[in-house]
Amino acid sequence: MSQELFYKSKEVSMIERCLLASTEIAELDVVNKTTVTEAVSRIDEISVTHLIVTDHNGISIYDSAAQNSSEGKYTLLPEIVQALRGFDVFTWNYHAGTMHSHAATPIYSYGTLIGSIYMTEMDTQQGKLIQTLQHNTFLITLILEIILVLFSLSFSNAFTRRLRKIMASMRIIREGDYTHQVEMGGNDELTVLGDEFNALVEKLQTSEQKRSNFVSDASHELKTPLASIKLLSDSILQNEMDIDTVREFVGDIGNEAERLNRMSQKLLSLSRIESQADSDCEIVYIAPTVERVIRMLSVIAADNAITIETDLKDDCSILILEDDLYQIIFNLVENGIKYNTPGGKLFIRLMRNQDNAIMQIRDTGMGIPADSLSHIFERFYRVDKARARKSGGSGLGLSIVRLIVERNRGEISVDSEPGIGTTFTVSFPVFDTEE
Ligand code: ADP
Repeated sequence: MSQELFYKSKEVSMIERCLLASTEIAELDVVNKTTVTEAVSRIDEISVTHLIVTDHNGISIYDSAAQNSSEGKYTLLPEIVQALRGFDVFTWNYHAGTMHSHAATPIYSYGTLIGSIYMTEMDTQQGKLIQTLQHNTFLITLILEIILVLFSLSFSNAFTRRLRKIMASMRIIREGDYTHQVEMGGNDELTVLGDEFNALVEKLQTSEQKRSNFVSDASHELKTPLASIKLLSDSILQNEMDIDTVREFVGDIGNEAERLNRMSQKLLSLSRIESQADSDCEIVYIAPTVERVIRMLSVIAADNAITIETDLKDDCSILILEDDLYQIIFNLVENGIKYNTPGGKLFIRLMRNQDNAIMQIRDTGMGIPADSLSHIFERFYRVDKARARKSGGSGLGLSIVRLIVERNRGEISVDSEPGIGTTFTVSFPVFDTEE
């Protein structure tokens, strides 16, 4: 029988016996120790450990206990107090291997409360059951707690070990070894953290590689004009030469200095673009900027007898920094003039479709060989080094263009046929002013 059912049936049986005894006592003409003792002895079913009968004030009239009898004294046990208020009461407690059940009911005679009856029963068998249960519960709890402690210890050990692994890797990276990767294993948050860490390190490695390539390329490129300047000035100092030759040499020095100046300008613009925040953008119409570039380069175009033709749609507005847009158009148009043939043409077309503004810059120049096409956007790449040097090229113009285009969600492509000409196509998502 379950514990709950056991207590329920115990309650019913003890309350029933209390009521039986109280009916018997209620029928007595005189209620005193003698009459109550007689009445109680008549009820066979009563068989309890301890029985007390009180009057309506709670003074004990009858007490079955052989020692420390409560008879004649106020016996205000909690159950008796409740019974004298008119309630049937059942309580139980467990103490030292024995279960104690207590029940009390009021005694009514002709509707008047004349006293209460209280009984106690002790049950060692049920007590033992509870004791075993308590013991088992204690054991199970202890085992569970030990398992829990062992589990938490091993878990926190594994966790700390893996965290230390990440920290050790961080130290290695900090010391400059960007090839290092952390191997976490498992399939939890720390594994994800490890993967993120590795991705970050890879990115760091790539940008470090780019940075060091850039520095070595830049110093190499700067070295050439500096060496020329040194050579020319040494020649002037060490050789007897006529004034015209000196003039020519000084002119060359001036050109090299000018080239250095242009290169450092471009390097500065590269670093400005790389550190620029996207939030600096504004909505810009492309056509006016194209016209501004043409005005700026018209003198060089005229010097090379290059005719510029335009077909510009006015409604092409994009989200970009105006200086950046200017830089893109300037570099492409300048190349279209620089690498054109004397008397050649340059066509600038600006159109838009549903989503994009498209700009095409086509020249009738020398063109770019097929094997160079995939390299022309690389930093310091020049198809014909000697020619480019003569034209003052740094090999940075197109890499700046591509960087700006990509940073502004645009695309750039090139199409060229040696001897016929080159077409650069740049497109950007359209941003209308209302948007
Ligand atoms: P540069 O400052 O040398 O012009 P760019 O990055 O602008 O550097 O161009 C890279 C190389 O691509 C140039 O050196 C040139 O050889 C080639 N190039 C660029 N534009 C054109 C063009 N319109 N026609 C032919 N070749 C071009």
